[in-house]
Amino acid sequence: MKAHDDLYLDGAWRPAAGRDTIDVVNPADEQVIARVPAGTAEDVDAAVRAARAALPGWAATPPAERAARLGALRDVLVARGEEFAATVTAELGSPLAFSQAVHVGAPVAVAGSYAELAAEYDFEEKVGNSVVHHEPVGVVGAITPWNYPLHQIVAKAAPALAAGCTVVLKPAENTPLTARLFAAAVHEAGLPAGVFNLVTGLGPVAGQALAEHPEVDLVSFTGSTAVGRRIGALAGAAVKRVALELGGKSANVILPSADLAKAVGVGVANVMANSGQTCSAWTRMLVHRDRYDEAVQLAASAAAKYGERIGPVVSARQRDRVRGHIERGTAEGARLVAGGPDAPREKGWFVHPTVFADVTEDMAIAQEEIFGPVLSVLRYEDEEDALRIANGTVYGLAGAVWAAEESEAVAFARRMDTGQVDINGGRFNPLAPFGGYKQSGVGRELGRHGLAEYLQTKSLQF
Ligand code: NAP
Ligand code: MG
Repeated sequence: MKAHDDLYLDGAWRPAAGRDTIDVVNPADEQVIARVPAGTAEDVDAAVRAARAALPGWAATPPAERAARLGALRDVLVARGEEFAATVTAELGSPLAFSQAVHVGAPVAVAGSYAELAAEYDFEEKVGNSVVHHEPVGVVGAITPWNYPLHQIVAKAAPALAAGCTVVLKPAENTPLTARLFAAAVHEAGLPAGVFNLVTGLGPVAGQALAEHPEVDLVSFTGSTAVGRRIGALAGAAVKRVALELGGKSANVILPSADLAKAVGVGVANVMANSGQTCSAWTRMLVHRDRYDEAVQLAASAAAKYGERIGPVVSARQRDRVRGHIERGTAEGARLVAGGPDAPREKGWFVHPTVFADVTEDMAIAQEEIFGPVLSVLRYEDEEDALRIANGTVYGLAGAVWAAEESEAVAFARRMDTGQVDINGGRFNPLAPFGGYKQSGVGRELGRHGLAEYLQTKSLQF
């Protein structure tokens, strides 16, 4: 057990103001592996003041130099990749191979993309008799969740730093060790003091203090819709910029012409990866009635095979929440064809890969984000019915469409109310904008669109 008593403030590790701490627990064996400070409003204020003081210098740093620092940061993420992967596995519970490939692989790609974008981006643009300058918004308060602990940090910090903003990060209480390692990487990459600051702590204390701080110009939040709503309200009252990445209940639409085995196989893997704790997971599978029974069988056996390869969910609270959803699914009349609510192991917060058939649109398991390894398979009558069901939730974060012809899948995807759609199993693209329609959020992350979130324009007329 490692007890830390410091926060990364103004370019150095400094003691936290208060004495409250957070225990970090390994979800696979329930052992306390570390202790970190539960930062207070006083710590947040120190961090924001450091970020404010560093802002003019960093904002005036030539983009090529900012790009070089981000390139160095990417290289540190690569060099310390094994340490990052082991840390994510220890505090989130994901299998090590997944931590290496995804939890570290994606942030390396994203950090690299911002090193390139910072160098190439036109921060100055001519429009008629005007020159438009794209200037950093200012001090960014970043609040991140635990589900992809490094990716969520990099998806905010890298574009913010590329834009010339300075950052104060409040990471999720469940995964502060990855955030500490990230702060160490920032230090090693040679970013100037105060440009990036870390305050570990609890959402309602440190997170709230950060969102409310008058010297924070932009709040970028990823997490639950309930907290996102509060943060949006706070930002609205203070007239400050806000970006919200919230939940999802995405549809995997398998059109009648699709390769069913492939669509179901990839669809099940998409939901079970990271133990279902992915906001963009395709947790509703939509299948035509003529192929429904076959799809359900394929999904049940794919989920059963997933069995031992799945990690635990992040916490006892999350485990109980997921189990509650599974029990409710059965109570509402859905048919359990794989998994169930009982505990697969004696120790650790594991949940069986679970599949429900005969799920109807009105059921909670078809509407609410579960954030666990639970797939709902719904039946549709025709394409219009499929579209109505796909669009029939308050969310709109992601989705998938499968068809024999790409053009058929694209035509359907264009009618979906959602921020991104994978066509016949399309790959993750770190340059493509990521964000939600409807209640899945406000704003976009990644690529040029993600960079633009951290910029404001100033027009000079000649
Ligand atoms: P959450 O409570 O919304 O947490 C997200 C972040 O916000 C954490 O850093 C959290 O701190 C902080 N926070 C909590 N209350 C706050 C407040 N009043 N003011 C400012 N910051 C605050 O989400 P969660 O508890 O980690 O997960 C709950 C649900 O959120 C999940 O079941 C899932 O549905 C959804 N979720 C969505 C995503 C996504 O990517 N869209 C990611 C994770 C979770 P603490 O860690 O101390 O709570
Ligand atoms: Mg929380």
